[in-house]
Parts: sequence; C-alpha cells; structure tokens
Amino acid sequence: MTEADLAGLGVHRIAIPIPFAAAGGPVNVYAVEARGGGLVLFDAGLGSDEAQAALAAGLARLGRRLDEVERIVVSHGHVDHFGAARFVQERAGRDLPVHVHAADAPKVLEGGRGFAVERPAYAAHLARLGVPAEVEAAVARSAGRTFALARRLAEVAPLAEGDVIEGRAVRLEVLHLPGHTPGLVALHEPRRRLLLPADHLLERISPNPLIELDPDGVQRFRPLRAYLASLARTRALAVDLVLPGHGAPFAGHAAVIDGLLGFYGKRQARLAALLAGGPRTAWELCAALFPAAHPSDAFLTVSETVANLEVLEDRGEVARADEDGRWRFRLARG
Ligand SMILES: [Zn+2]
Ligand SMILES: [Zn+2]
Repeated sequence: MTEADLAGLGVHRIAIPIPFAAAGGPVNVYAVEARGGGLVLFDAGLGSDEAQAALAAGLARLGRRLDEVERIVVSHGHVDHFGAARFVQERAGRDLPVHVHAADAPKVLEGGRGFAVERPAYAAHLARLGVPAEVEAAVARSAGRTFALARRLAEVAPLAEGDVIEGRAVRLEVLHLPGHTPGLVALHEPRRRLLLPADHLLERISPNPLIELDPDGVQRFRPLRAYLASLARTRALAVDLVLPGHGAPFAGHAAVIDGLLGFYGKRQARLAALLAGGPRTAWELCAALFPAAHPSDAFLTVSETVANLEVLEDRGEVARADEDGRWRFRLARG
C-alpha cells in the first residue's frame, strides 16, 4: 500500500519538523477523514511556531482547515505528540475534545507532572542511581527546554483500550500498549492491516523506555518489562503497513520487533558482563554503555540502563542493594 492508497482510505500523514535528533526524524500527525466529513487527528505535533505552521500547511495541502478538526487523539504524553493540541483548539475556535489515556493524562494536563515540574523527586531518584549533581542539573535544563515546546491542556477526554475511531473508510481500534510511556495507545485497522503505533514501534531506532515516577516519588512502572509485553502483543497483530510516529511508513513489523528483541538481549548481556567485574551504580553502568553521550541526554541513557537492569532483576539475574542511599547493582548468581 502506498501513501496514495492511504489517502484513498482517508488517512493522511503530515510530517512535522522537530528539534530532537534522537527522535528518529519529523513527528507524524495523521489526519483521518471521519464519517461525518470532519477530521480526527491522531497526534498534533509539537507546540512550536514552526511545527504549528507545518500542521496548518499540511492540512491546507489536503484542502482542509484546522476548524474541520472534530477531535484529537493523543498517542502518548510526549511534547512532540500533544504539543500543538491547544493551538488546534484555539484555531478551531472551540474546546474540541483531546483524548488521552488516563495513565498519560498527568503529563498533558496543566499543573500536571513530569521532570520539569517534579524536579526534586526526580533529582532524588537520579541521586540514588548514582547520577552526579552536575549531570542532574544538565538534565533539568534540557527538560525545561523540552517542556517549553508544548502547552498543556486544561482538560482531557478519556481514551482506553477498545475505543473505536470510525473513519470514512477505516475503523481504527484503540490498543493500550504501555512501555514507551505508561499510557501509550496505538491504532489498529485489522481489515486494512494498518497499525499506527506512534513511538511504540519505529523502523530504525528503539523507543526509549523512560523513568517515570509515581506522585510519591517512587518508580513502580517498569517501562521495558511493560514494553516487551506490548511488543509480543504487537507482533501477533495482523499488520501489512506500519504508520509510525516518526519517519516514513514501513512493512515487516515482525522483523522490526525481532530486531528490537535482539537489540535489548545484547544490551542486557553487556550489562551482565560489566557486572561480572563487580557491583556498580546505574550511572557507572550507563557511562560504560554510552561513553560519548552528552550530559543533557543523561535522562535517556540512564533510563535505558535502568530499564534493562530491571529486566535482569525480574529474571533473577541481577539484584540491587541500598548503600548509604545509593543503589548498587550486582550479579545475583555465580
Ligand atoms: Zn515519545
Ligand atoms: Zn515521539
């Protein structure tokens, strides 16, 4: 199926430029022609002037306008996916509903959550992982810049597994696929064998499993464990074409998933090999895995390290011990 075939089904991809090199290219907004003639947007893109102009121009190329948008379905609570939702509401001249899964709603709502607004809890958590204070400061600056690229919403509408978006020629079923974030949703069209997985499945890069703290400052969500379970579910879906959150459509979702499973397996083997040399903090392991990473990317690299350690913990291969308020990871056997 080509993009022209997709257009025939009333599904249009609008690529929006974003300033994050690690994201895998421009973010995609999907405009779906609804039954009644209006539009449903799957994601809204970033809230920068440039991105918002690109969204309006993308709709104009389709001969459509922002005030034809009936509602927005947000795949997950990252700024590049929901950032322009408020702009669309304003241009539409009404509070059109913005649907977000309950588990990601706090990241989208005004007065909500995330690194920039909960820095003390995240700083304490990173300290426990052995992250130096100056690196935490760089992470906080980077988070502040990132969060400025979205305007949060006063309210959101519900979105859950089993919801259906009726398009002119497609019937998109909502799947809850936690991992990249706790509340990520994908859209699946079983009859047309289409999958819109947002950042859950990208062709060339692995989605970052990110540390996410509960309101009490404790990390309970284990992103990679959840992600691997969601991947297994995704692999079994009837899919011919993937319309991802970043980059061009691609086929062969099972092969991409198998590649990801191999990638994480290798990363876990490398961590186990490093721990064979003795106990380490997550930050020490992170520095060994990503020696060239910039401090402002440390939240991504530490999250990736911890997420893989958690999978090893779940398998009983690694254990952590609290030493003076800092975790040390060690091999549990041998
Ligand atoms: Zn994301
Ligand atoms: Zn993204």
